[in-house]
Amino acid sequence: MTDKRSLLKDKKRIVIKIGSSSLTHAGTGNLNLSKMEKLVRMLTDLRNQGRDVVLVSSGAIAVGIKTLGLTERPGSQPVKQACAAVGQARLMMVYQKLFAEYNQVPAQVLITKYTMIDNVSRYNAANTFNELLKLGVIPIVNENDTVATDEIEFGDNDTLSAIVAALIQADLLILLSDIDGLYTDDPHGHPDAEFIEQVDVIGEDLVRMAKGSASSVGTGGMATKISAARIATDAGADMVIANARDVGIVNDILNGMRAGTLFLAHKNKNFYLIDYLQES
Ligand code: GLU
Repeated sequence: MTDKRSLLKDKKRIVIKIGSSSLTHAGTGNLNLSKMEKLVRMLTDLRNQGRDVVLVSSGAIAVGIKTLGLTERPGSQPVKQACAAVGQARLMMVYQKLFAEYNQVPAQVLITKYTMIDNVSRYNAANTFNELLKLGVIPIVNENDTVATDEIEFGDNDTLSAIVAALIQADLLILLSDIDGLYTDDPHGHPDAEFIEQVDVIGEDLVRMAKGSASSVGTGGMATKISAARIATDAGADMVIANARDVGIVNDILNGMRAGTLFLAHKNKNFYLIDYLQES
């Protein structure tokens, strides 16, 4: 039987998602510039290898909070949206500067659930992505948090990144997070929890297990990662959850090393993105 890990080196169109907690320092909430610098260099190098690369980056609200000098995460929707408006611009400014170092052009693509539900705008978004990738640009995607409200927001970029992967027919999605991957139980409270290296099929038991884990609280817990995995793998992309502690892990994954949890693609012939949007 072929080792599925060894096939990852041939991936041509890769979506990489990084979360706010991985982009900022835990103690201060300020941007972790060294990590961003390493991330940008690594992404540019993937591009230099001839691969199509899309980055889904969180951090708009977190950066806005710092920029506006707020001491805690706002509860009110308009304040959160104001933070996102300020933070997204600043985040892009930092990305622009870092990518410029390597002569790599990035682009900003902001998406809402409406963009994906509406047939015309979904089609337009797919065309824009394809054109950007053809031009050698690295699109940086986030939810358009300034206009998305509770009822219509994706809310977490795990789901958004899987939807983008499906939209552009990516062959690999990597979720960089603050955990090593999937465990049989929450490893914090359960030292006997076992690490799961590979998931061939996402069964009901797995969905139940992730829902039960403590990490399902808030955005980007294990439950959202499993639901992202279902979208990505049904759409025909392999997916890996890996620890963003060192973003060089992306190269390890592409070199076939046993890093993170690999979810195997099993393209569903009847895959229709809209069905998944209605559930998310
Ligand atoms: N879109 C949010 C932001 O940029 C983050 C969503 C998430 O944490 O997944 O702040």
